[in-house]
Amino acid sequence: MVLDTGQYASGYLQIAVDEHPEAVVFKQRVRSSVKVSVCGDCGYLEFYAEQPGLMYRAYQNMLNNE
Ligand SMILES: [Zn+2]
Repeated sequence: MVLDTGQYASGYLQIAVDEHPEAVVFKQRVRSSVKVSVCGDCGYLEFYAEQPGLMYRAYQNMLNNE
C-alpha cells in the first residue's frame, strides 16, 4: 500500500505492509521510504523501496499469519 502523504503527512512517500492486516489495533505495520528517479527529459518516474528485503519479509509474515 502507499501511505497518505497529504497536508499533515511526513512529506515523504512511503509504502507499508501490515503483517496482521485483520487486527483492529496492532497491525504490525512495516514501512519503507521510497526513492524516486525522474527523467529530466520526459518526466518518466521510477520508484524504489529503500528497504525491499524488510518489506518482503513483512509480506511473507503477513501470508504466514493468514
Ligand atoms: Zn525520459
